[in-house]
Amino acid sequence: MPATLAKGLIERIGEAGGDAADHTAALQQVMESIDLSNLGAIGHRVVHGGSLFSSATLIDDEVVETIERLVPLAPLHNPAALSGIAVARKLLPDVPQVAVFDTAFHQTIAPEGVTYAIDAGLAADWQIRRYGFHGTSHAYVARETAALLGRPAEEINVITLHLGNGASACAVQGGRSVATSMGMSPQSGLVMGTRSGDIDPTVIFHLHRVAGLPIEEIERSLTRSAGLQGLTGANDMREIQRRRDEGDPAATLAFAVYCRRIKEHVGAYLALLGHTDAITFTAGVGENSPAVRSAALQGLSTLGIEIDEARNNRGDRIVSPDAARVAVCVVPTDEELEIAEETRKALGA
Ligand code: ADP
Repeated sequence: MPATLAKGLIERIGEAGGDAADHTAALQQVMESIDLSNLGAIGHRVVHGGSLFSSATLIDDEVVETIERLVPLAPLHNPAALSGIAVARKLLPDVPQVAVFDTAFHQTIAPEGVTYAIDAGLAADWQIRRYGFHGTSHAYVARETAALLGRPAEEINVITLHLGNGASACAVQGGRSVATSMGMSPQSGLVMGTRSGDIDPTVIFHLHRVAGLPIEEIERSLTRSAGLQGLTGANDMREIQRRRDEGDPAATLAFAVYCRRIKEHVGAYLALLGHTDAITFTAGVGENSPAVRSAALQGLSTLGIEIDEARNNRGDRIVSPDAARVAVCVVPTDEELEIAEETRKALGA
C-alpha cells in the first residue's frame, strides 16, 4: 500500500509576499524539508498533453520539447509545469521524472465526442478539439468507486462529478473515459468558482462588438469574474449556501444554476452510457456539500437515482438508499496519490 510520508504547499511563487521567489527556490525548499535519500522518481502534473500523450510519460529532452509545443493550448498552465520540470531535472539529474497529464485519461473518448462541428481545416490547423481535464481525479475516483462497491472497475459505469474551484463531469465506462465536460480548455461545461462553463460563443462577439470590450477583458471576465463569482461576488460555495439560507436572491439563483448544470450533464451521460452503476461526487464542493448533491440529483428517482438524506447529511461514502439502482457515492479525490501511481506505472516499477 502506498503511504503519504510528507505533504506541503508552496503558494504564489514569484509574487510579492509569496512563499518562494521562483520555481528553483521553491523546489530547493522542498528538497530541504523532506528526506530524499530513497526518492525513486518525481511525478509532474502537466495540465495539457494535447493529442500527443495518452498516458504518463518518462521525461526526456524530446518530451520537454513536445510539452513546449503545447504551450499555446494551455498558456497559463504548461509554462509553470515546464519550469518545475526544468528545475527538478537540474537539481536531481539522476532521478527519473515522469509527466502526468490532466488530459491523458480522456484520450479514449471516441472522435464524435471530441470533435467540435466547426470548419475542419481550422480545427486541424489549430488543434481545436475537446481534450478534457481533471483526468487524474476522474480516473482515481472511478476506480475507488468500484472498490467501494466491491466490483471490478472494468465492469461498471460511473458518472464522476469533480466539483472544486474548477469543475467537470466525466462518463466512465469500464474504467475508460467516454465523455467529459471540459473542452479544448478547462472553461466549458459545469459552472465553476470563477469560470462560466458552457455559454453560447456569440456572447463573446456581442461583448466585443456591441459592448465594446477588448478581447483580453472578455477573457478575464469569463475566466476570473464569471461562474459563482460572477453571479454573486463570491466564489466559495460555503458563502453561497450561507447567503442562500438567509434568502439572498442572487445566491439562490447561483446555487440553482450550478446544480441544474450538473443535472443536465448527468442526464446526458446517462443517455450516452445506457445505464450507470454509480454517480460519484468529489473535490471541495462534491465531498462537502450535501445541499449540492441533493439538489443536483433531485427528481431523478424514475431513473433509479435517489439520495438518502440522513446518509447524505452525515457524509457517508454511499449516500443512496440500499435498494436504489444507482449508487450515489462521495469519494475524496487524491490527485497526488494518483500521480504517484501513474509515475510508478510509467517506470514499469
Ligand atoms: P481546487 O479545485 O482548487 O482543488 P477544492 O477541490 O479544494 O479546490 O474545492 C474548493 C472549493 O470547495 C471551495 O471554493 C468551496 O467552494 C468548496 N467547499 C469546501 N468546503 C465546503 C463545504 N463544507 N461546503 C460547500 N463547499 C465547500
